[in-house]
Amino acid sequence: MNSLPPISFDNTEVAYQTKSNSELRKTYHLYRLMNQSLLVKLGNAMIQFLMSKNAPIEGLVKNTIFNQFCGGETLEETKILIDNLSKSNIEVLLNYSVEGLEDAESYYLTYQKSLEMIHFAAENPSIRAVCIKFTGYAGIDLWTKVQSKATLSKNEDVEYQQARQYIDHLCAEAVKADVQLFVDAEESWFQDAIDSLVDEMMAKYNKEEAFIFNTYQLYRHDKFEYLKRSAELAKSVGYVLGAKIVRGAYVEKENQYASKTGVPSPINATKELSDIAFDKALVYVVNNLEHISLCCASHNERSNQLLLEEMVKCNIPFNHKHISSSQLLGMSDNITYNLNRIGINTAKYVPFGPVKEVIPYLIRRAQENTSVAGQTSRELRLIEKEIRRRKL
Ligand SMILES: Cc1cc2nc3c(=O)[nH]c(=O)nc-3n(C[C@H](O)[C@H](O)[C@H](O)COP(=O)(O)OP(=O)(O)OC[C@H]3O[C@@H](n4cnc5c(N)ncnc54)[C@H](O)[C@@H]3O)c2cc1C
Repeated sequence: MNSLPPISFDNTEVAYQTKSNSELRKTYHLYRLMNQSLLVKLGNAMIQFLMSKNAPIEGLVKNTIFNQFCGGETLEETKILIDNLSKSNIEVLLNYSVEGLEDAESYYLTYQKSLEMIHFAAENPSIRAVCIKFTGYAGIDLWTKVQSKATLSKNEDVEYQQARQYIDHLCAEAVKADVQLFVDAEESWFQDAIDSLVDEMMAKYNKEEAFIFNTYQLYRHDKFEYLKRSAELAKSVGYVLGAKIVRGAYVEKENQYASKTGVPSPINATKELSDIAFDKALVYVVNNLEHISLCCASHNERSNQLLLEEMVKCNIPFNHKHISSSQLLGMSDNITYNLNRIGINTAKYVPFGPVKEVIPYLIRRAQENTSVAGQTSRELRLIEKEIRRRKL
């Protein structure tokens, strides 16, 4: 019988064990800047403006926010970080973080890049999964139209069939390479179209083990029920459901879209309701591990503590292959490293790509880490604590 091991997410010595003093100071200065919401707003606007004018600011971005949240510009560059994480027994979810593509050539290039990542992951076993977005292979307008079940034009049908072929081939290659493929969740007006294709791929490729994972956004009030229905389907048809559970990244965008189009918002009315839904999903999955494989993708300490408690309660070995906890690179090392220390499978989500192309991702990270109502962010408080502990 498992017993609850002593663990504290406040243990900053463990959290920052791989950071030198100068790296810690650098991180501290960056988080201090990001803690100021006005500065983040102005900085984001300025970076976007200067980038659009082709001003040479890549160097500045790369040495600051890029290095904190991204693995590198290329796979070769990113390998250094992957190898360092692997020394601490931390796995990687690899993501080519280029967004907002709009033409056939770009979709083809994304497909090629995804294939390259899968083959790279096959040679680097500490890469647990390759993460993809279906909007990398066809446009948002097309996915939206597929979801609305409107008749596609001839050109649209060609684009859709091409995207399906890319995705099917990527899934097949992932299985061949023994690599997991995580499909990111996006906005609700085309997420159903993504969900049904991921379900189809899971039924086809997850017969023996979960290779293909869908992402379930529990900030949506319909997603816990959807997760349960998907799990029941997997059980009855005979495949393993791959479930990455998240709260979700697009609250503001979803609410704006709902008020603009006059449809009800799919987002829970309060943060507490999202927390409850997330935790219910977590407990449900941990209790159904024979036919579900879980990635708990969250920076929430309480939810990660609950994961641990539920595993103890159900007497599940900490290194069970159907359970992992994952945090974004550059955030919540206190969760990643402390869970890792007691033997839970942990992974960092590591995006890479040319500096200019990953700007939207970096802007989301800066916004996520800015101060709420003038309070010091959790991340900054932990770094300050470690700086005091080291007497720097
Ligand atoms: C490895 C990884 C992969 C991810 N992949 C995806 C993905 O594919 N798609 C995606 O959308 N997200 C994804 N996310 C999640 C997202 O980017 C945020 O990191 C996450 O939602 C932050 O929540 P948290 O669980 O860390 O907890 P917390 O910080 O406790 O919660 C913050 C979250 O609560 C929810 N919330 C906040 N206010 C409200 C409100 N008023 N009403 C309702 N809900 C509210 C929001 O989802 C907000 O992001 C991923 C996260 C990780 C770590």
